[in-house]
Parts: sequence; structure tokens; C-alpha cells
Amino acid sequence: MSDYPEVSFEDRMSTVDFRVSDRAHIEVDSDVCRSCTTRECVHACPANLFVPTDDGVILFNYEQCFECGTCYLLCNKEGAITWTYPDGGEGVTFRKG
Ligand code: SF4
Ligand code: SF4
Repeated sequence: MSDYPEVSFEDRMSTVDFRVSDRAHIEVDSDVCRSCTTRECVHACPANLFVPTDDGVILFNYEQCFECGTCYLLCNKEGAITWTYPDGGEGVTFRKG
């Protein structure tokens, strides 16, 4: 049994703010994703930013990214994810609960 309490998606998102950059710090190549059968990013992204569509591509929105790196660590298709940090002062800002 986990020592950590369950946290709802809404509660998790309410702990952070975002200074959204004009530049996407993560890019996802849908052509590479088409042949991916495991889709780790969809299941693991804590902000639910990877959305599979009926025609086999992945829609991705960088704007509410926690910058945790989970998608980049789990994805095993070379070239699917291009990952950088946002520019200084932009991106996620953690607030106190
Ligand atoms: S980003 Fe990686 S894990 Fe996610 S669908 Fe594309 S290839 Fe698969
Ligand atoms: S870095 Fe984390 S929050 Fe951002 S897209 Fe990847 S898994 Fe989701």
C-alpha cells in the first residue's frame, strides 16, 4: 500500500501556474508516433498532454507541461520527442498548496 495520498487531476493542476512561452519546448513528431503501439506518453504524462486520435496520430500541447521529463524517458522511438527546457522565466511555476 502506498504512503502517498491519492491526488485528483484537478488538485494536481491547481498547484501549478504556467508562464506560457511562444516557443514549444517539446515537439512531437506524429509521423514517428503512428507506428508506436505502446503509447507510454499517453499513460504516463501527469498533465495528460498527449492525446491519441482515431486516425493514429498523437496531439500534443506543450502549454501545461510540468517539465518532469517522463515522456522523454519513457518514449523509445528515436526522433518522436524533441525535448528542451523553456527559456528562462517561462514554463511551469510551482506554487504552495
Ligand atoms: S511520443 Fe513516443 S511513446 Fe508517445 S506515441 Fe510517440 S513514439 Fe509512442
Ligand atoms: S515533460 Fe512531463 S508533463 Fe511535460 S509533456 Fe512530458 S510527461 Fe508531460
